Formats: sequence, C-alpha cells, structure tokens
Amino acid sequence: MQRQILKGNKILFGRPGKCKFASGCVIIEDGLITDFTRNEPNISQSEIINADNDYVLPGFIDNHTHGAIGIDVSGCTIKELLKLSEFYASKGVSAFLPTLTTNSKVNLLGFISTITEYTSKKTDGASILGIHMEGPCISEKYRGAQSAESIVYPRIKDFKDYISASKNGIKTITLAPELPGAMETIKFLHQSGIAINIGHSDASFSICMDAFDNGVGCISHFLNGMRGFHQHEPSIMGAVLFRNDIYTELICDGFHLVPETVKVINKVIGPERIILITDSIMATGWADGQYDTPCFSEPLVVKNGDAHLLYTGSRAGSTITLDRAFKKFIDFTGTPIEIAAQCVTINPANHLGLNDRIGSIEIGKLASFTFLDADLNVVRTIVKGKTEYQSFIK
Ligand SMILES: [Zn+2]
Repeated sequence: MQRQILKGNKILFGRPGKCKFASGCVIIEDGLITDFTRNEPNISQSEIINADNDYVLPGFIDNHTHGAIGIDVSGCTIKELLKLSEFYASKGVSAFLPTLTTNSKVNLLGFISTITEYTSKKTDGASILGIHMEGPCISEKYRGAQSAESIVYPRIKDFKDYISASKNGIKTITLAPELPGAMETIKFLHQSGIAINIGHSDASFSICMDAFDNGVGCISHFLNGMRGFHQHEPSIMGAVLFRNDIYTELICDGFHLVPETVKVINKVIGPERIILITDSIMATGWADGQYDTPCFSEPLVVKNGDAHLLYTGSRAGSTITLDRAFKKFIDFTGTPIEIAAQCVTINPANHLGLNDRIGSIEIGKLASFTFLDADLNVVRTIVKGKTEYQSFIK
C-alpha cells in the first residue's frame, strides 16, 4: 500500500461552501483520502507532502472545455489529449470534460472513440471524467461560433449511438429544449444518468420549466448564446431565477460576462449554484493575433485574450484557464476563497453525479488537490495521490 501524509496549515477539509480552512494532516492510501488528523500521525514509511502555508483545495474540475495550446478535442489525437491533460493540470485542474461542438454524426462518433480510447488508458495530467457534447442539437439563432450545417433535431437513436461509442462515457449533453423531439430526448438522457444542460437556446420560460422537471439541471455558459430576459417572456434567465435547484455555468473572463453581471449573478443566484467553466478553445495559451484554425470556418482573431470570428464577429469561446477564472470570480465578487471554492469543485461534481468520488477533501474520496499560493497562483496539482504539476517558484 502506498501511504502519503499531506501536511498543511490551510486545508479545506469538508464540503466547500460549508467548511473553513484548517491546519492538520490528510492521510492518503493508494490515492484515496482515508483520514484527517489535527496532529501529525506517527505512521512510518509514508511520503510527506508539505503544503506549508499554501491553500489546499479539492482538485479543480472543468466541466466545459474545448481545448487549449493549439489542440481542439474535436478531432485531436491521443497524444494531443495527453498534452492537454498535462496543460490543464498546470492550471490547477484535476479533472475535466473534453467538450465536443456541433459536427456531423460520423465525425462526432470518431471524436468520441478517440477520447474513449484515451480515457481507458492510465494517463498523466488531469483526468478525463467523460465527454460533454455541446451540440449538435442547438438553436440555429443562438449557435454563436458553432457551424450551422450540422445542427440537427434531437433523436434518441443518435444519442444511443453516441453513448455506445463512448462506452457510457458521455457525462453531459448541452441542447436546446425548444427543438422538436427535445423533451423525449431529455427524459431518455436523464434516465441514462447523463447530466443535461440547456445551452445555445431560444427556449421560453415554460419550456425551461418542462425541461427542468424532466431532468435538466444546469445552463451552459449562462446568459451567453441564449435568449435574454424580457418582461413578456422571462425565458431562460427568468426560469433559473424562479427555481432554486438549477446550476449555472459561468465564463468568468470579464468579456463573456462583465464583472457587474458576475456580481449580480453571485448575489441573486449564489455561489452554491455557480459552476465556473473555461469554455476554452485551442487558442488558449496563444498570443494575441489572427489565426486560421480547423475548428472554425473563418479566421479567429484574439485581442487581449478575447476570441472572435473575423467576419461574423461572434465570440468564439474563451482563452481563459480555470485558475484565472477562479481568481477573477473572487476579484469581481469579493467572495472568500473557501466559499468560491465550491464553484470549481463540489458544484461541478454534484451536477455530474460524481460527488461521492470527487469535489471535496473528505474521507473516502479521491486524493486530488489544488494548491494555491497567497496570490492564488497554482503551486501544485495532485491527481489521485500523484503530483501532476508542481511550480518551482515559491
Ligand atoms: Zn462551449
């Protein structure tokens, strides 16, 4: 048995949002958290991991990312998936959902097979929890930068094929519930244990209510790529405000949502229903400039880190990383670190139904941690007891 002792002065032991930082020792056995003690236990032959004064948070989880460092998960190779996993680990991410965008069925099946093959191997970096399909059943009107040609109405048969190609590895589907066939599909996906998001949608308030009652639990990149609130049709925003059980993904880069909007959402909806995501694209990690990419039909322009398509001007995902999104959320809202932590840990885990394994530092869960210094820079990322990233500048 491999035994480790993680010692620190600021460990967020317990449920993020409901616990405070404590000093003590986390006992890890074979990649699992088995105990927490205030005083150093007398256990011989243990590896000591010293966190000193770094904040020790549960490993960050990104439920929505399309890629980074020149790699798009739609069509990349197994080698590239490894590179991406290592890149995410360097940004504090312990686990993520590679997120596919709208494409033809044959292409999607191919992308799913590659990711599934990669996931079945023992790999380094952040681990893949499964696949998020953002499309192809979305509103043409609110498709944003996604391609119009491959948008289709939802059919249970298609999703059965995707699920089977993924060997039950599809964890989230983003769709527009107003499309013909959507409600039956939502029921089917819910029964299949898949988390469902509304996104790129023109849905009315009443359609959203039906969708929530049938199993939708989250809104993809809330307020971006969807019909807005109107006094005659409160739509998606109204439906989310009306309920208190729906998660909202936020792209907290200051562009998709200005800081004041993030403040309002944090106040009205609250951090317990916010999931910070990156929605990052392959240009993440690139300098400003104009790029031809295989994933967009027109050139991509990145200016001050904000990515747009050259001709249509559509915002094309983000170039933010999850550590920076976390920092910005705290800057914009003034939320204490231990409260904000739930937006990148337990909330995404809850939405995926994986909160028995990940999302908090509790006995019985995977030993995945994100260490941050006093300025909230990532110092170390541990995935299942293994250090996947460590900064040497302290
Ligand atoms: Zn996206």
